[in-house]
Amino acid sequence: MSDSSSSPSQGSSNSDDSSNSAFERWRRRVMFVTGIGVTEEERRADLQQVKNRRCENMKKDLMDNSPLVIFLLKHLRLSGCQVPESNIFCATCEDLPVAGGGTTAHSGGYIPQVGAIKLCGGHFFSKQHVESTIAHELIHMYDQCKFKVDWSNLRHQACSEIRANSLSGDCRYTRELRRGITSFSKQHQACVRRRAIVSVSANPACPDEATAERVVNEVFESCFQDTRPFDEVY
Ligand SMILES: [Zn+2]
Repeated sequence: MSDSSSSPSQGSSNSDDSSNSAFERWRRRVMFVTGIGVTEEERRADLQQVKNRRCENMKKDLMDNSPLVIFLLKHLRLSGCQVPESNIFCATCEDLPVAGGGTTAHSGGYIPQVGAIKLCGGHFFSKQHVESTIAHELIHMYDQCKFKVDWSNLRHQACSEIRANSLSGDCRYTRELRRGITSFSKQHQACVRRRAIVSVSANPACPDEATAERVVNEVFESCFQDTRPFDEVY
């Protein structure tokens, strides 16, 4: 019949190999889950790999099914910037140093030199969090595509951070937008301002947090009002 793989004429080495490797995989999994026989570093690396794989799966699903992500990808395409799936990738991230000392955790980053978005696989607590992070970075990408942002210029970065935090769902704005509500709550504005200041503080060109705060305040009104591409009608 069709069970040629179990034919004795083939010898037993193949099936031994495959059951050995299955056993080996199982043994390693047990080791990693229980922590027995592996170093703390190996266990952390394995856990990170699992998280990055989960992140990749959520990313793929969101690129195919999230109305927000699809909308932004479409407007990037219409602006002449195609984003291949491989340009959004999940990886392990270190915390970023901020002006004046200390570090800040982040869930993603836009890499303008190569036009790619890094998602920090270990930092996500929900699919919606992955969605708002992708949307946030896509808005930076859109700004780069449309307006040729100079990321070493703090005013440029502040403006893009205000827009990205406001429009991505980081501060839950898009929900209101979908309902057609365009008057924003004070909490929403405070959230956008706070997050933008933290991001500008992490710019190597920013000397201290007070500078980040001043720059964000200077450009806040005009950049907050700029809701492109959400107000563009096609
Ligand atoms: Zn940002």
